[in-house]
Amino acid sequence: MGTPNRGLFPSDKLLLPPIREGETLYSWCAHYHVLTSNSRSVQTSRQLFGHPSAALRPDFPICLNALVDRTGESLGTSREIIFRRTPFGIFARFLAPQRIEAAIESMTHGSTTPIPQSLGLTASGLGPPAVLKACPKCIEIDFTETGTSRWILEHQLPGVSLCSTHRCLLRVATNEAHARARKEFCQPHRFRRADWQENPFLLDKDLETLQTLSAWSCALALRDDQVDTAFNSKAVQDICHLRALNRGWICMDGTLRFKQIRDVFLASHGRLSNVPTLRFIEDLRKDSGGFLGLLMRRYEGFHHPLMYLVLLTFLFESLDDFMSAYNDALVCSQNERRKPLTYKRDAVIQSIAMKIGDGGMSVNRASDALGLPVGQAISYLKENGISYKRRPHIVGTAKEIALIDHLQRGDDPNVVAAELSIRRGYIKDYLASRPELRKQFESKCLERRRQEYRTKFLKVLADNPSLPIKRIRQETNSGFQWLYYNDREWLEESLPGLWHRPKT
Ligand SMILES: [Zn+2]
Repeated sequence: MGTPNRGLFPSDKLLLPPIREGETLYSWCAHYHVLTSNSRSVQTSRQLFGHPSAALRPDFPICLNALVDRTGESLGTSREIIFRRTPFGIFARFLAPQRIEAAIESMTHGSTTPIPQSLGLTASGLGPPAVLKACPKCIEIDFTETGTSRWILEHQLPGVSLCSTHRCLLRVATNEAHARARKEFCQPHRFRRADWQENPFLLDKDLETLQTLSAWSCALALRDDQVDTAFNSKAVQDICHLRALNRGWICMDGTLRFKQIRDVFLASHGRLSNVPTLRFIEDLRKDSGGFLGLLMRRYEGFHHPLMYLVLLTFLFESLDDFMSAYNDALVCSQNERRKPLTYKRDAVIQSIAMKIGDGGMSVNRASDALGLPVGQAISYLKENGISYKRRPHIVGTAKEIALIDHLQRGDDPNVVAAELSIRRGYIKDYLASRPELRKQFESKCLERRRQEYRTKFLKVLADNPSLPIKRIRQETNSGFQWLYYNDREWLEESLPGLWHRPKT
């Protein structure tokens, strides 16, 4: 026990309880509060921190310099308290070094912006950054042995859902109980049944996944002398993408097959969305893709460590597997790291460039040869500044002879386009640049259409021998109107009797 600040706490009156094994700073403050018999928690917080609510923060306390001063470092230095008595260590693992230092500074001296907000955690949708959790068996043992209980730091780490001693699911405080713990000191044995969230029934496989998550979280939480080993977020995202590539979840152009990843994830981890701290998994079904979309597609900014942990334990076989991939990634530049993601695309671009360069092919022919859509090939060429000439791959081929033959017969362009596998627009352009052929085509079309209308009209007459002329004229589907304007001579010459039909 150190020497307290004599100005505020005369040492002969101060009774500082020892900090118990594994307990959090909040837990110690709550224990101290009970021992002082102060009626109000703010009073205790003021005594310890010189601040009414600095002690009432189960996740990130503030004004630690005052506490360290008043307790004579009996709880450790402010860095030691932050990393060994609060869950900050696991958050720090995923923060940039300058943000770690800024957060430590805020916790040591106080901050006008709440720390979760300055870390960018308020938009995470996960509720409190580190919700209060406890093991029922640990509470029971603590209470039997000491008449009180502790909030154990390991249990407060995001990602830890099981007690490593008793292998049972931790109880998770309800949002209301957690909010109450920020107003008055709470101890786990004093929580009522309604203060804990309902735990789901889980299969052995799910418990194994939770066990893995817990182990990763405990192993990755940083200590104060390890802050330079915080992850480089770009390298983490790159190795996640590379792992997705190994699983066949990356398209040829380097983009994610997101739906596939999501389906596999939901099949293996979907049931975990019933665990109180993992409800965010449910958001995966939304269009945004939930946390998977955030980490695999967008990534910018800092995200809750629990999201990282769930993703990493899904993609990597073990922590060693992940760390080995991560360390390999660190020795490469980002461009080098990401090369395998676009390796296939780069090879295709190289092939197209060769075919249209030395091979003298048009983009169309080169794309055909590689089984690539022409539009995609052109976009690759443009992206890489490769000049190209898009020549039609029909001219000079048997396809062109067949096309001319069809057009000379006045065949329907839609049918021709489908039969020869060419674009309808290409036929239009082809005719526009060949006036003779166009004339011939239009004349044949007219002839074909005329024949079709004549046949149709004669059928209507034959099927309705007594239909009056007025009704025939009004019948839009008889072809009369078209023939009247385009083939009137035939109408009059071929069917003189038509005009003498009875009138209505
Ligand atoms: Zn336990």
